[in-house]
Amino acid sequence: MEKKDQRHEALLRSPKNGYDTLNAEETKKMDELCEDYRTFLDDSMTEREAVKATIAIAEKHGFKLFVPGESYQAGDKIYADNRGKAMILAIIGKQSMETGFNLIAAHIDTPRLDLKPNPLYEADGLAYFKTHYYGGIKKYQWTALPLALMGVVYDRQGKQIDIKIGFDAVDPVLYITDLLPHLAKDQMKKSMTEGIAGEELNALIASKPDSEEGKDRVKLAVMELLNQKYGITECDFQTAELSLVPALSARYVGLDSSMIGAYGHDDRVCSYAALQALLDLQEVPEKTALVLLADKEEIGSEGVTGMKSAHFDWFVNGLCKPNNISLFDCYANSFCVSADVSNAYDPTFAGVSEKNNSAMLNHGIAVCKYTGRGGKGGASDASAEVMSKLRGMFDKANVLWQMAELGKVDQGGGGTVAAYLAERNIDIVDAGVPVLSMHAPFELVGKLDVFMAYKAYGAVLAS
Ligand code: MN
Ligand code: MN
Repeated sequence: MEKKDQRHEALLRSPKNGYDTLNAEETKKMDELCEDYRTFLDDSMTEREAVKATIAIAEKHGFKLFVPGESYQAGDKIYADNRGKAMILAIIGKQSMETGFNLIAAHIDTPRLDLKPNPLYEADGLAYFKTHYYGGIKKYQWTALPLALMGVVYDRQGKQIDIKIGFDAVDPVLYITDLLPHLAKDQMKKSMTEGIAGEELNALIASKPDSEEGKDRVKLAVMELLNQKYGITECDFQTAELSLVPALSARYVGLDSSMIGAYGHDDRVCSYAALQALLDLQEVPEKTALVLLADKEEIGSEGVTGMKSAHFDWFVNGLCKPNNISLFDCYANSFCVSADVSNAYDPTFAGVSEKNNSAMLNHGIAVCKYTGRGGKGGASDASAEVMSKLRGMFDKANVLWQMAELGKVDQGGGGTVAAYLAERNIDIVDAGVPVLSMHAPFELVGKLDVFMAYKAYGAVLAS
């Protein structure tokens, strides 16, 4: 090596493509992990499904439902289910809870279209569902796309009925129409925010009229059909929780199959990587290892199943109380990674990013010191001490990582659950998988970055 090259190596940062760092064994592990991740995605189209899928996997690995009041021992594996929409998993560590825990906090809710409480209507011989979008979407992306109907309905007797239509090959799908280009002269002049309005996100659900004369014949016929199949009436929609999600399975993307395309990478990719890292811990960890899968992140972490809920405190306190440990002492000594996706630099839209501070696809897990918007507004800005601690963990475990900002200064911004854990006096920093086309009905991640996130979370949980 020439002297100049040596000085480069020693003094300058040289970003690495992860594929230049993987050995054959790691490549095999990456492929297996990503194959399993695809299955997890297809089983987890809503947060409710993600909880069910996670519980099934966890129980297979010996996790038991958390019982308040119980005193747990090192190596015990437990989980708590927050109303079927969020959950926490834990492997009890060798040290007391007084020394704190290591936590990976991800979220399992994803932008989608929820049905309005009174969704059903008929217009000019066609029946529709009215929707109200959940989370930050580009509304025009949700038209002309196969959509599945998912969720739960309770009938008048309080019986729960699960609904999932659109994923079986024999299932029909629902559909939101868009205007044909031939007649879109006025629409095409609108801004992209206004091109498709919220009240135009109406899903076409039926077109065949009831055989008897009368008004609302299509609406009646489709309700009859739903009643026969599920025993529900129109009034039951008022108390239901139904959503439309893209009826698309996870697929490998690229002629080299190096990427995964799917609905809901944000943030099921970090959720899955964290879960798998917890399951794969080789030894009982020194400190208790926690994985939190939150709901409601996409709408500000509000609500009883969101990160602001005391459910988390209730669970951790449940681990502290039998040993008379103060929850506040436990928090003060804990370390957390907010495992949420970041934006992957997109060469087609290079203008929104500052390349030196952007996450590049295949360059590993993206660490985000701060999120927020404008002058870091709303961010939980991690300290140099926290950053240095994380770097130490990653380097020790040979994790490929990179620093990321969410776009250019003043270009936009966003937030994660980090702020709400920081409020509890827990040291925290964001680190997650870079995503292309985030919040689109079909998002992209690089397989290599999924693998590095898995390694990264494993390193934190084992530390
Ligand atoms: Mn997210
Ligand atoms: Mn998001």
